[in-house]
Amino acid sequence: MPAQRKNHNLYARVSAVMSAKEQAQCILLDEGEDWSYGDLSNSVGRFAGYLCEKDIEKGDRILVQTEKSADAVALYLACLQLGVVYVPVNTAATMDEVRYFIDDALPSLVVLLEENRCAEVRSAYSIPVIDSRSIVVQAQQAKTREEIAILDVNDLAAILYTSGTTGQPKGAMLTHGNLRSNAETLLSAWGWQGDDILLHALPIYHVHGLFVAIHCVLLSGTAMWFLPSFDVKHVVKKLSQSTVIMGVPTYYIRLLKEESFNEQVTSNMRLFISGSAPLSEQTFHQFFERTGHRILERYGMSETIMLTSNPLEGERVAGTVGFELPGVEVRIADSDGGVLPIDAVGQIEVRGPNVFEGYWNKPDKTATEFTKDGFFKTGDMAFKDHEGRVSIVGRAKDLVISGGLNVYPAEIETLIDEVEGVEENAVIGVPHPDFGEGVVAVVVAKQPITLTMVRSQLRDKVASYKHPKAVVQVGELPKNAMGKIQKNVLREQNADLFESN
Ligand code: AMP
Repeated sequence: MPAQRKNHNLYARVSAVMSAKEQAQCILLDEGEDWSYGDLSNSVGRFAGYLCEKDIEKGDRILVQTEKSADAVALYLACLQLGVVYVPVNTAATMDEVRYFIDDALPSLVVLLEENRCAEVRSAYSIPVIDSRSIVVQAQQAKTREEIAILDVNDLAAILYTSGTTGQPKGAMLTHGNLRSNAETLLSAWGWQGDDILLHALPIYHVHGLFVAIHCVLLSGTAMWFLPSFDVKHVVKKLSQSTVIMGVPTYYIRLLKEESFNEQVTSNMRLFISGSAPLSEQTFHQFFERTGHRILERYGMSETIMLTSNPLEGERVAGTVGFELPGVEVRIADSDGGVLPIDAVGQIEVRGPNVFEGYWNKPDKTATEFTKDGFFKTGDMAFKDHEGRVSIVGRAKDLVISGGLNVYPAEIETLIDEVEGVEENAVIGVPHPDFGEGVVAVVVAKQPITLTMVRSQLRDKVASYKHPKAVVQVGELPKNAMGKIQKNVLREQNADLFESN
């Protein structure tokens, strides 16, 4: 008898957990309509049935823009079950962006938030389009489909359009093997426990909320509070009924501003995880002082899922993103691809079972982003210390070159955070007639911050060419939904700052 082919479908793994945990709670909703694993499994089966009725098959793409709901999770899982490629779309995407994604991904079905948008797409394309509420109603009437597609490790599970700040979005192709290997690694790295309850307040169109958070829960058979968004007061209330939260740095900054947030409300919590943007040392230390918890910072991206993490046991060091995760190779390379020694700054290159297949429809771009020996060039600049801890100093494109010398924004931002009254800051480079680029600090503060104050903070700590030549004070920094500071916006806003010099 021929040996049975191993099924690498991630849903096969999830389905085994669901069968074992049928009665256990899975998705906890505030309205009280909690979902058990059995409920989720039934809903996935009906969505899979619906997709089959629409003749959607393995390898087809479906583009999904949806509100955050338990049904949305079931639709995602139904795609995995059938080997259909899930293409999530940011809830804030414009119609132009939606059209771009349709033209690029050529989906067999489009799900959009609003009916008037559906109508617009219907009039321009001959693909089925449905709004995100109607698909739930229709799926409830569909005949359940239980068969799980047999897949290889390299079969595509999802295409994530990267939130690149320049150029056209690129679709990162992630396989079932990528998702599964990373999820298993995280469960063990973060010591997931049978009675963990995740507080899920992230959006579900991004790698953080969709893969990292949901997979940890589903693969461990645990439960999550599924909050529609991050409402700070509500989150404070829910912390006492949770054990783990995954957040972006802005969540932690907002919690610290909340008076009712203290050691007592976090006493049930086991782990606060941060990622998607740099967590300032200031926030890390203030959080520890207030709660006694050291936030665990990790680093990853759409193309690779998670790459490094501070340790569960052992020291979590502020300003670092920790060690490479088991099975993931992380090296620091110069512009010629040479591996750099300890403490030298270069680009992070990565290899491992978590690293994506390439960019959808962009073989040339894919080829330039990988080295000959199969490492992906992340575009992030960092150094590794003698223990192997990685510290990110900024995106390569955010590097400031002033008078021909490199200024790494993170180094200066960390020091400016220490100036009395500064809440947040971003260091950028803008055109300067003498220096090519001039260093500018954009600062959010409770009181006026002058260039002299900033410079005296930096004096004796870093060379003078790294000192800002201007300080711009603003009410808030422009950020995207994942809390990433949009430095391109700041550069545009301040492009003429040194023009008259
Ligand atoms: P995305 O593909 O939207 O998840 O963005 C990935 C990018 O976010 C990375 O390439 C980094 O530039 C940034 N990023 C993610 N986590 C961290 C972190 N812990 N510290 C600094 N930057 C981070």
